[in-house]
Amino acid sequence: MPAPLIILISSCFMALSMSVVLLIIAKTFPKNIQGLREWALSVLVIALALPLFIARDVIPDLFSIVLANLMLLAAFMLMNAGTRKFSGVPPRANRNLLFWFVLVYVSLFVWFTYIQPNAGIRLAILSLFTLVVILDHLVLALKALPKTTGRHFMVFALGVLVGSRVLRLGGLMLGFEPPTGIFDDTTSQLFYMALPSVMVPLGTVSFIMLASEKLHRDLEFISRHDGLTQCLNKQSAIEELQREVSRAKRHGNKLSIMLIDLDKFKDINDTHGHLAGDKVLVDFAKKTKISLRDTDRLTRFGGDEFMAILPDTDLEHALLVADRLHEAGKTSQPIAWSVSIGASAWLDADDSLAAMLNRADKALYQSKTLGRGQTQAL
Ligand code: GH3
Ligand code: MG
Repeated sequence: MPAPLIILISSCFMALSMSVVLLIIAKTFPKNIQGLREWALSVLVIALALPLFIARDVIPDLFSIVLANLMLLAAFMLMNAGTRKFSGVPPRANRNLLFWFVLVYVSLFVWFTYIQPNAGIRLAILSLFTLVVILDHLVLALKALPKTTGRHFMVFALGVLVGSRVLRLGGLMLGFEPPTGIFDDTTSQLFYMALPSVMVPLGTVSFIMLASEKLHRDLEFISRHDGLTQCLNKQSAIEELQREVSRAKRHGNKLSIMLIDLDKFKDINDTHGHLAGDKVLVDFAKKTKISLRDTDRLTRFGGDEFMAILPDTDLEHALLVADRLHEAGKTSQPIAWSVSIGASAWLDADDSLAAMLNRADKALYQSKTLGRGQTQAL
């Protein structure tokens, strides 16, 4: 049996098992991690295309040349679509362009299979069209994916594919590499036939890494944030505050906090229902985040109580922010809300996190007892 044939058969089984792994992951991973299905299908399409190449001269050319090469192009396009979905980039607006791209490709293959049979030109067409798709994929990966190990893997794999296609096209154009039969035992043919057996696992690893990195990021976000308002939860809030307090201690930075509690929130729930109450909490968090700077953090302590951490901010400026919040609540639609705020600022090196929180708590209590809808500072 010629070596390229053995390599192709083993690549086929490799791609088949990789696609099963990816399909299982696509089924078991959370639905918000998108693109896995397309990646799995792309590897499956490669696995199904390889037997068609292997069966050259046994089955009609329509299947072993035209369909097999169409499936290879489709596999690269599916991979691209997977990355697009994964990174949340909207699908291509110009669907016509994709249709014409594929149609021209198929027409060229039909032409150079039946009208003017030419294996060298067919190889050049395959290399050129897949090169376009892979380059597009590479640009997408560089632009839209976060800089993680998974992305490095994907960029490396795409880079190798670009290189192999450029080499092949260059070789064909310069006439260094006369077109050979698919199972010819030449070094270059062996190299190209062995490529899927290396690239399929490499691609699969990059897909799995990207998906598990995202899963890890999502789980970390969920463990640190409140699901309703997307604010940091109490535990993370205290961790953040500890970090800011040590900065204030070490560098003498200013630091203020505000404890914010919605007024008569129970009445909002009782009058408008719990779901409407939830919407008020979300609206409050959204408006408050708008009033804060990028470096500030809004955290949810629990129920209707929040804490804003304002690094590099003195009490005077914190009170200005508080005023903006009181104004925002008055005009909120469909339900206006009001808040009571207790503010405190880092005093000096003898101050502590617990003492600062305690002052803010007392100030909040004062705001409540003095009639709500106001800010007190201690
Ligand atoms: P006060 O002005 O004294 O703060 O009065 P209040 O009614 O806001 O205070 P209280 O602590 O009695 O009520 C807070 C209410 O917030 C009670 C609880 O049912 C409600 N609550 C807590 N968490 C949520 C939530 O996630 N969604 C909704 N809709 N309500 C919540
Ligand atoms: Mg309240």
